Amino acid sequence: MGMFDTIKFPRPIACATCGKLHEDAQTKQFEKMMTNYFVGDIVPTTVIHGVVEENLICDHDSDGEKYSFDQKVYLVIWHGILIDVASSVEDARKKLDSFGFGDLFFLYQSLYKERNDFQAKYSRLRHWIESYREFQQLSKEEQQRIKSEDRKFMDFAYFNLLPHLNKEDPLLSFLEELDGLDLSDKTLLF
Ligand SMILES: [Zn+2]
Repeated sequence: MGMFDTIKFPRPIACATCGKLHEDAQTKQFEKMMTNYFVGDIVPTTVIHGVVEENLICDHDSDGEKYSFDQKVYLVIWHGILIDVASSVEDARKKLDSFGFGDLFFLYQSLYKERNDFQAKYSRLRHWIESYREFQQLSKEEQQRIKSEDRKFMDFAYFNLLPHLNKEDPLLSFLEELDGLDLSDKTLLF
């Protein structure tokens, strides 16, 4: 099976031959489950604390005909956590030696924000779908009344559906709105 995982770089790394900027590298050194790994993730490697060498693959903009594997990137793993991807082993070692709990705190803070955003979006999505299911079980007349201006206070349950009900695909319309929101600091609002 040609499966692999992808390491997302915190900063692009340039190909030493053609200068093309790379945002990620594939690896077969983890679980090969097509997972994306970012800085801050716990990585499933046998290296608990150290530097893991990986190949950077570049086609040098030759329409994918010739691939070069001879450039290395270095995954910096601090107590099981991917903390950086460096383009030289010296930089990787330096990062590993200088990384401390203060850096971990900043990493944790941004991951915590991301987690809150994700939870808040999931919760909104869940409530929206529940309301939408209830809405669809109403009679056509009731549905039409809620879509129109002639709303009652009891229709409040469908309030979050209203901007989307007249769209061709209401769920898709809501998902697009949700994708554009940053809810990380608003978890407690609903
Ligand atoms: Zn290249």
